[in-house]
Amino acid sequence: MPSYKLASREYCPRDTVIEIPGLLEPVFIGAGYCTIIAGPCAVENQADYLEIAKILKSIGIHILRAGLFKPRTSPYSFKGLGTEGLKIVEEARRTTGIAVLTEVMDVRDIEDLYPHIDIFQIGSRNMQNFTLLEELGKTNKPILLKRGLAATIEEWLLAAEYLLDRGNHKIILCERGIRTFEPYARNTVDIGAVPLIKHLSHLPILVDPSHATGRAEMVGPVAKAAVAAGADGILVEVHQHPEAALSDGRQSLTPEQFRELYEQINKLAELEQKILQ
Ligand code: PEP
Ligand code: MN
Repeated sequence: MPSYKLASREYCPRDTVIEIPGLLEPVFIGAGYCTIIAGPCAVENQADYLEIAKILKSIGIHILRAGLFKPRTSPYSFKGLGTEGLKIVEEARRTTGIAVLTEVMDVRDIEDLYPHIDIFQIGSRNMQNFTLLEELGKTNKPILLKRGLAATIEEWLLAAEYLLDRGNHKIILCERGIRTFEPYARNTVDIGAVPLIKHLSHLPILVDPSHATGRAEMVGPVAKAAVAAGADGILVEVHQHPEAALSDGRQSLTPEQFRELYEQINKLAELEQKILQ
């Protein structure tokens, strides 16, 4: 048995499928489904967020990004609205009926976020924040666990093991690129991680082509490669005005670009015999 026992394929030969209850109808993540999560990098203000939420709903997304706490390299960058932004997220969730995903960076915020969100995200920088892993592992909400900036596959699966060991079995892995010597793209996408994870583990895996590349022109091709490689879905940043975004505008798609990608992913999902829900 590998070091990551509960996450291993040996422990659970069948693929895990996670049900996100949602407000209208459940969304499924895992074998047989292709799940599209999209939204701006961060919630910036009420009017823009409600507008993009409605646009993305009309395109057909399954889950909405709701970034409130942004881990920024510089302390002077926009760090998100924090819990102040929760009422905006709640309104978008209520009016569109779409489930929301938000990153939590600090154990002290779990309780405030809990009633208003559908999936907790553990960001790359916190993949090995073991206190956070243990606290979130005690909740019963689905958790999207991003791969650390320079984490090996085994370290990533062991981080998932922390959550599983605490009793939370609703774990979704997300490949978002790793640090290499290559400076042109923000990160280097490890597409091979997708079939490898499928071989080693029963957990669903998504790919985030936005943070993996840092460049809007690379997002579509990498998203399609991810689905072709067997990923269970994608997590994409979309903004009405990428040039004016308070964070990650360079990698954000416009709604028009995203609509085209959504249609292409739909066709690919069909080829892979996955339901786009
Ligand atoms: C994000 O998805 O908002 C994010 C910060 O991603 P990552 O942790 O992959 O950098
Ligand atoms: Mn971002």
